[in-house]
Amino acid sequence: MSGKVEKKRKPDWLRVRIPAEIRGEEDRVAGILSRYHLNTVCHEALCPNRGECFQRQTATFMILGAVCSRNCRFCNVNPGRPGPLDCGEPERVARAAAELNLRHVVVTSVTRDDLPDGGSEHFALTVRAIHAHLPRATVEVLIPDFLGNPEDLDRVIASGPDIINHNIETVPRLYPLVRPQAVYERSLELIRRVKERAPGILTKSGMMLGLGEEREEVIRALGDLRDNRCDMLTLGQYLAPSADHYPLQEYVTPEAFGEYGALARELGFSYVASAPLVRSSYLAEEALADRSRG
Ligand code: SF4
Repeated sequence: MSGKVEKKRKPDWLRVRIPAEIRGEEDRVAGILSRYHLNTVCHEALCPNRGECFQRQTATFMILGAVCSRNCRFCNVNPGRPGPLDCGEPERVARAAAELNLRHVVVTSVTRDDLPDGGSEHFALTVRAIHAHLPRATVEVLIPDFLGNPEDLDRVIASGPDIINHNIETVPRLYPLVRPQAVYERSLELIRRVKERAPGILTKSGMMLGLGEEREEVIRALGDLRDNRCDMLTLGQYLAPSADHYPLQEYVTPEAFGEYGALARELGFSYVASAPLVRSSYLAEEALADRSRG
């Protein structure tokens, strides 16, 4: 791990000005979410795209609590002993999504290795509740690896989301440093199993760049994803949430993101979003525009 680039000024391409009219929309969304006692990644991670996503009637709900049973070095979520399940949460997510009139609903979660089913039933209940309240909306789930348990994954698949997203996050060489409780091959296998069990569901994965990965390693990982039948890809810039998190190694240029994006399309990904500010569910609804119900 080379020296930190912490004192390096954040490049202009990572600076986002949130227009006043979007701030207004943000407040409206925040009000609705707090009324339903819900967490969103948009707010938790201070995602730079949240204003734009809210305007596009897209939001990412975070279920299963705000404490994670793992401790990935890049993540801003609190590690520790997660709390009890909130059984009313699936219904509240669906009702909030309906009140927000969302066209595309993304549901993610902390990892709950402490639960016998990894939280998979809670995911399935949430997807079904959204389908019931918002039959015309498309649903994307960004799931943990359920410790590789196929029954848990099948439970989520059976609930019928449009997209199943599972991020590999980085290249295998960096796993011990960046996400020590994850297994690269296990994540690839999860993506492949979704396609084998339900070919109609779109598979998706994403990586953060700027953690010290080499260009060849990124290209190999993209090849691995395609070999395991991943349809959609997101690539974005890693930004360390604090000085206590894994140190940023590099600001990857927009040109480099463009090159990776072009290469990913050549590899056969049907949908690619590759740019510094891209996040997992950014512009996700675009890939589904033709699949929208009704
Ligand atoms: S498993 Fe997910 S939520 Fe938990 S620490 Fe890692 S990235 Fe964060």
